[in-house]
Parts: sequence; C-alpha cells; structure tokens
Amino acid sequence: MNPEERIKALIHIIEKHNHSYYVLNSPDISDYEYDMLYKELEELELSHPDKKLSHSPTQRVGSIVKGFDTEPHSQRMYSLDNSYNKEDLYEWVSRLKKVIGEVPIEYTCELKYDGASISLTYENGQLTKALTRGDGTQGDNVTANIRTIKSIPLTLKGDYPSFFEIRGEVVLPFENFKKLNDLRVSNGEEPFRNPRNTASGSLKIQDPSIVSQRGLDCLLYQLAGNFPHVKTQSEFLEKAASWGFKVPNTAKKCGSIEEVLEFISFYDTARHELPYETDGVVVKVNSLEFQAELGYTAKSPRWAMAYKFKADSVESEVESIDYQVGRTGAITPVANLSPVLLAGTVVKRASLHNADQIEKLDIRIGDTVFVEKGGEIIPKITGVNFSKRPLNALSLKYITHCPKCNSPLHRVAGDAKHFCLNERDCPPQIIGKICHFISRKALDIDGLGEETVSLLYENKLIQSYADLYTLNPILLIQLDRMAQKSVDNMLNGIEASKQIPFEKVLFGLGIRFVGETVAKKLARSFGSISALRDADYESLIAVDEIGEVIAKSVLAFFEDSYNNELVNRLVSYGLQMELSSEFKLQGHKLSGLNFVISGVFETYSRPELKELIELNGGKVVGSLSSKTSYLLAGDQMGPSKKAKAISLDIPLISVEDFLKMIS
Ligand code: AMP
Ligand code: ZN
Repeated sequence: MNPEERIKALIHIIEKHNHSYYVLNSPDISDYEYDMLYKELEELELSHPDKKLSHSPTQRVGSIVKGFDTEPHSQRMYSLDNSYNKEDLYEWVSRLKKVIGEVPIEYTCELKYDGASISLTYENGQLTKALTRGDGTQGDNVTANIRTIKSIPLTLKGDYPSFFEIRGEVVLPFENFKKLNDLRVSNGEEPFRNPRNTASGSLKIQDPSIVSQRGLDCLLYQLAGNFPHVKTQSEFLEKAASWGFKVPNTAKKCGSIEEVLEFISFYDTARHELPYETDGVVVKVNSLEFQAELGYTAKSPRWAMAYKFKADSVESEVESIDYQVGRTGAITPVANLSPVLLAGTVVKRASLHNADQIEKLDIRIGDTVFVEKGGEIIPKITGVNFSKRPLNALSLKYITHCPKCNSPLHRVAGDAKHFCLNERDCPPQIIGKICHFISRKALDIDGLGEETVSLLYENKLIQSYADLYTLNPILLIQLDRMAQKSVDNMLNGIEASKQIPFEKVLFGLGIRFVGETVAKKLARSFGSISALRDADYESLIAVDEIGEVIAKSVLAFFEDSYNNELVNRLVSYGLQMELSSEFKLQGHKLSGLNFVISGVFETYSRPELKELIELNGGKVVGSLSSKTSYLLAGDQMGPSKKAKAISLDIPLISVEDFLKMIS
C-alpha cells in the first residue's frame, strides 16, 4: 500500500474506532492499539504533508480563531412551546386535530437535552460548517470548536444525503463537568456553575485546543430540510445514527398521548441516572408529512411540544445577605446559603431581586428556604419553610445606604429596585461602567478583564473609561501581577479599540436604556456623536422605536458636563465618533436584488455586508437558487457553492465590485 492509500485506510480505521468509543460507548480495541494507529497516521502525515486530509482525526484541533462570523441559517432554528402538565398536552393534541383532522397520530418522545443548540452542515459526507442558534435566523460560525468534539463525525458513512443540515445539542456530561471543575479548583480557579452554561461558553472560546479539553459531547435530534427517503422523525433518528451521529437510544415512538405520559413519568425519575443534564421531554408528531401540514408559529413548530420536568427544589439555610451594586447603581440583594447540591451543581448563592421580594417571602437570616433552579444562572428562592424558623429570627431591615460608598439609597416610584445615585464616586459603579465599555459588544478590548480593571482603579490609574487611553506603561509594569506581556496586550487592545465602529462606542458609553440595538438605531439616524448631542427631544422620539424613556435618558446624559468631558476626550483620542462613510449612503440602488454571501472577508464582517445590502434596498438570502441575483464571494468559499452558482448562471462578485455597485 502506498502512503496515500495507507493514510486513507488509517483515517477510516481510526474513525471507526472513534465511533465505537465516543458514539456507541463501547471501545473495540485497547487504548494502546488505538494510540499506535494514531501515531502511525501522524507520522505518515508528517512525512507526506501534501497527502494530509482536512478530515483526518489528527486535524480535529485547529489553530486559534480570531472571532466568530455570524452567518445565516438555511432554515430558521426555532424554540419550542412548553407544557407543564397533562392538560396542556391534551390541549395541544386538540389543536393538532383541528389542522390534520380526526386521524390517529403517532408521536416520538425524546429527552430535552440541556446544553447549547448547534446546526451542522455536511457536504458530500464531510462536516463543513457548525453554527450556534444565535437569534434563530443567524448564528456564530463555531466550526473550529465543534470539530474538536470527538463524537461528531468529520466524515459520514452509509447512505447520507449529499447536502444537509442536522441539528443537535452540545452538552457537557456530568462526569466531565466534575473533572473540569476539580482541575480548576486545584489550579486555584473559580469552578464553573453548571454544565449547560459551561457547554455554551466553551463554544465561544477562541482556542480550539482548550475546547478539546472540555469533554463536550453532541446529541443529534433533528434534520433540517426535506429528504424524500425519510418519512418520519423516528426513521430520521435511526438514519442519523446509521450515518455515524450520536443519537441517544432513549427516544421512543408512541401510539397515543397516554403512552407519551408514561414515557414522561418514567423519565421524570430515570433522568437522574443519565450521564448528562435534561430538563424535559420533547414530543414530536412523527409523520413528516403531518409536520409540514402543521407548520410553525412565529416562534416554534406546531408539531412539537416540550414537556418541562418540575424544577428540582432543595432546602438550604440563609446565612447572610449581600447587597450588590451594579453599573447603573441598582442594588440587588443576594442570599448566601449553606452549600447544597442542586441539579448536579453546588449552590451557595441565590438572587433575591429586590426589597419587595424579600418582604413578600418574609425571608430572615437563619431561615430554611426552598431553592429552585430555573433557566437562570443564579437559582432562586421560592419560599420559606416556616416550620424550621428559629425562634429568634428577626425580620430583615433593608439597607438604607450603599454598602460600598455609604450614600443614601433612592427608590423612584415605579422602580422595584433601590439605587445608589453616587454615580461618580461609587467604586462598583465606576468599575462596572468601565467593564461595560470594554465588553465584547462594546469596545471589545482584548487583554483587559474585570479583575485588571479593578486593579487599575484601586491603584488610581483609571477613574473612567476615558482614562484607559492615557495609561502609562511605566506605571502599569510596576503593578503587582503585571508582566510586560500583559501590559503590551492590554495597550494593544486599547489602541485597536480606536477602530471600533461608532455604534459600538455609543453602546459602550453606558447611557441608561441605550442597549446594543438602540445604539445602532441612534448611530444610523444621527450619524455622529455631535449630531446626537445636538438632538432635541422631538428629533429623538422621531426615530423608530425610540420612546420617551430613552429620549429623556439620552438628553440627561448630554446635559451632564462630566459626561460631555468624557465624550470630548474620547473624540480627542481618535475613537470612531461618526459612522464610517459606507453606512451613511442609503438608497435603493439594490432594490429587487437578492444576494447570497459566502466565504470569509477581510475588510467587512458578514453582518456588516448584510447591513450594507439592506441599507441600499437589497435582500440577503441564505441559499442559492435561480432567484439569486449575485453571489458575494469571499475567500475560502466552498467549492460546491461555487459550482452551483456557475451552473445557475449567477454572477460571482467581490467586495470591491459590490462597493462599486453602491457608491
Ligand atoms: P427552548 O430554547 O426552551 O425554547 O427549547 C428549544 C431548544 O431545545 C432547542 O433549540 C434545542 O436546542 C433544545 N432541545 C434539546 N433536546 C431537543 C430535542 N430532543 N428535540 C428538539 N429540541 C431539543
Ligand atoms: Zn454607592
């Protein structure tokens, strides 16, 4: 066998063993034998680099990625409607019957895996793309990280369709979660809170080699699109397994809703024995033809229903209450609990939201309380076990002064929260505002995190975000825990932020009620910080979706001389304080034209290109068809896409061609 053939054979053999080990959980050779095969492949690839294949098992861990492109889903990723009891399910069935008539309906019951949803694209049997759910219509391209998950096949076997998307859930099994946390604790790091958030957080790490250490797994549950040979959901699950995907064998076909209820009641307890977290059952109409007839509501398929298990509830004792101060000065009371195990994680704190909540539940120090885990990261207290209340427990007196700066707290009518108004001198508010400014969706400053911001503030090197731009490297290097490399990284990150577009700078300013979307709207409508500063109430509320509250908040921000000084300083340091010129041109030059965007672009992100197209009256669609007017092509575009465009006679254009079209 020549090296090329041997490489191919080894890839095939190793992938087969991977499948047995990671998908079927039943290894068919010893670790030693496996390592020998793997080594042989590595050595062959090293001596014949030109014969190395991208789908080789040695190529699962790629190099560091700079960021994640947002890309459209070919078909929307929906949420699911929830049900909590059998009445809800019976109602759902009667809604089904209204559409498809009084015919027998078959269902599939699957567990609802609790992790991060993912959509995988396979072209000619090879994994080409993985997108997170994002907002359902577009998600982040996290292919490099997904490739590190060994239960996800890089190449398929059997009679798979030549092009398809498959959806599933990336989960972190309890066992790997525990290992990961043990390691973190022994390294002096904070343990992660729960498997689900760790799984979704892991997908956004820029270094795939770290992701590969996390022990993620991926369970598949849905095919996107129509496939003539697959007629039911249960058939699809079988097919997907035969192509090499991990499809849990817990799924069951049920002939009636009573059978569905049996499945639910069985797994309500049996789920505690499963290796990964689940939070319910997903019931689906089995026939794909019925599914097509039933269709979707604005947010979810009509043919599926999630049944949520009752949240786990445990008892724990309230040891003390902390009051946290947010960047806006809002106070949030948090209960410190005696540590207790809840749904696989140790819980030590629970949010109490505000003073009313404490009063309503009548929570006192020393009380035994019921703690539940909902969808949030921090669990919530749902009630007090009064039979266990200590005799001397005094009712809580809510604080009247800020725990950090001691100024009196205020509560405005209509606001549930108390606020510390000492914006300029209250440390957590100052630090919080700077952290907001540097966060990913704002100035996105690498090399600077919350800890460093606190350190700089405590050492009086910064008092506001504007001070970041005058940091002195000589003073920085003198700080504890600051190496030359960290200083360089930080200063480079700060310098790079001067190129961040205006709308993100505007978001970073931290004007109350001006979130990401509002900042974008304001930036597009006014075009520059000076125009926004000069805007009056009428011109503000004239902007689509800007109401009284936001308008007043913007006016108040610019009426304050301290804020104006900060903004003037940012202007003088060279930050982007107006829209870049392309985004100012708006018109109808592209009206009636449909674009498909594909590949990687150096100068613009995909969302920016999409926006440019839409600003000029064009439309962006997900996949090529005879209706597509242009394919806007970047680097590394898939060859099959290119071939398809050529066969459909769709012109390929570059970014430069495109800019000419709109200039
Ligand atoms: P929700 O986000 O609560 O609306 O629930 C919808 C999500 O449930 C989907 O986006 C999937 O990520 C997830 N999910 C987990 N298991 C399944 C399953 N077996 N079938 C469909 N969706 C599932
Ligand atoms: Zn304060």
